[in-house]
Amino acid sequence: MEVINGDITKLDVDIIVNAANNTLLGGGGVDGAIHRASGPKLLEECKTLHGCETGESKMTNAYNLPCNKIIHTVGPIYHYENDAASLLKSCYKTSYLLAEQYRKENKLDNITIAYPCISTGVYGYPKDEACMIAVNTIKELDNNHINVIFVCFDEESYTLYKKELEK
Ligand code: ADP
Repeated sequence: MEVINGDITKLDVDIIVNAANNTLLGGGGVDGAIHRASGPKLLEECKTLHGCETGESKMTNAYNLPCNKIIHTVGPIYHYENDAASLLKSCYKTSYLLAEQYRKENKLDNITIAYPCISTGVYGYPKDEACMIAVNTIKELDNNHINVIFVCFDEESYTLYKKELEK
């Protein structure tokens, strides 16, 4: 596991994760950035998926992005869900399991997946709690074939992840 500060749409990795909403039809924040950079074909493919439940994940092609695939996951709205922590954990887990399936199907030894700080923007999840859930969930799943990059978009998140990963 590693952490970087930057724009997830620029990463030339196997898979990037999108913090999408239930419609999967685009939105603000990282979702908007991914749709803009990927191009209109992404929206066309997303329309065929008929949305996604909170805590679940679905994979698409990446089109104009440098990565190979996008996994769209729907984080919880912090003040709206009763069990936001389980749902956020589920986002990291279901994305990871989809990535593992992709790795096996394509007979790849190792892949790299990049995660944004899911739910910590408009969805209002406290950054520190979200960071602990992200790191602990990936630690539990760790299988040596998947490299995980946490992509932060602000200094505060970056510092939180640095500290959590040093533990
Ligand atoms: P959510 O609705 O799940 O809260 P947001 O997109 O509002 O999703 O925010 C999720 C996180 O993604 C926030 O920490 C935000 O700063 C970050 N973010 C926004 N744009 C980008 C980007 N281009 N690359 C990486 N992270 C981004």
